Amino acid sequence: MNGASKKSLSERVAVKAAPISEAAAGAILTIDLSAIRENYRRLKVRLGGVNCAGVVKADGYGLGGAQVAAALATEGCAIFFVAHLAEGALLRQALGARPAIYVLNGIQPGAESEAVAAELGVVINSAGQLAAWRAAAQRAGRRLKAAIQVDSGMSRLGMAAAEVEAVAADPQAFDGIDVTLVMSHLARADEREHPANEQQRLEFERLRMMLPKAPASLANSSGIFLGQSFHYDLARPGAALYGINPTPAQENPMLPVVRLQAKIIQTRSLDRGAGIGYGHIFHVTDSLIAATISLGYADGWHRRAASAAWFENVRLPFLGRVSMDSIVLDISALPPGRLKAGDLVELIGPLQTVDQAAGHAGTIGYEILTSLGNRFHRRYVNG
Ligand SMILES: *Cc1c(COP(=O)(O)O)cnc(C)c1O
Repeated sequence: MNGASKKSLSERVAVKAAPISEAAAGAILTIDLSAIRENYRRLKVRLGGVNCAGVVKADGYGLGGAQVAAALATEGCAIFFVAHLAEGALLRQALGARPAIYVLNGIQPGAESEAVAAELGVVINSAGQLAAWRAAAQRAGRRLKAAIQVDSGMSRLGMAAAEVEAVAADPQAFDGIDVTLVMSHLARADEREHPANEQQRLEFERLRMMLPKAPASLANSSGIFLGQSFHYDLARPGAALYGINPTPAQENPMLPVVRLQAKIIQTRSLDRGAGIGYGHIFHVTDSLIAATISLGYADGWHRRAASAAWFENVRLPFLGRVSMDSIVLDISALPPGRLKAGDLVELIGPLQTVDQAAGHAGTIGYEILTSLGNRFHRRYVNG
């Protein structure tokens, strides 16, 4: 028996995915790291002297957590937030020992020692998580850091008011724990005038006064634009760094970060009456030239997002349904022969922003970015 055949099936299939070359890829995702850095600087200006973290959960909103965090670190960002322990452990490897990395969802019961080993700051969301972290500190034989999240009115994560009161009345509650941050999250920060924001801010004020004295944090991207009273000691933007508009009612104050281009696989002339794609939901009424591109719903382009691609300011509407791996475009508006196999058209870029693409899909820019698939050639520019 040779060595290879002794390996288990799972060992043999655990081949690391090779990066996809530009030539082989069906689509190209360009991520402008200098735009991310500029967006961080713009938020810093808004914040005056207040510290600014980087939220890089879900692999940096789908754009590459390690690459994004490294770019932010060059701007002086020293505090990062992820959602999961595994994301934090990867980021710790990428960034080294220095930056603080907080796990927003807290630590799953039984995983505390893994969080200690990766030197992750946990976000404590409940009295149960607090007790487990206290026990972890005792086992580790040293003090551990933690952020305490309180629920100021979103009813999603964080200690409820009654829990904060109970913890505050227990002199042993924080034994072995250094509280490095008290935080909460806004439910309606993108609705600037909504009274829920001020209600949450006042409840945050009330709850944090019962907890150990520590720097405070309330604002996500949109929260930064609610004004100084929401800034506290640390802001936690994610979306705005990636070019999503944090002020949906107004012009986007951020730079675009992402460009998505797909390759044409083939073109064809179609005559009147031809049906296109699954279900033939489109029939040709006049002759046209169609191009099939190598991008579909498996790449994160929602099936219901019937929209268009762009080539040099010319709009190329989708024809028929979005397939798993392809979409058919009407390219009749271009001179015959202008586009051929291998040429690129644009799906996200200056003419169709992330927020506009989201609008076509009936969703938000956050979901578009985090859905972007893993079959693209990823090109990081200005790193
Ligand atoms: C995701 C998240 C953020 C970042 O929010 P954006 O709207 O992307 O700026 C900040 N804080 C918490 C608790 C989050 O879950």
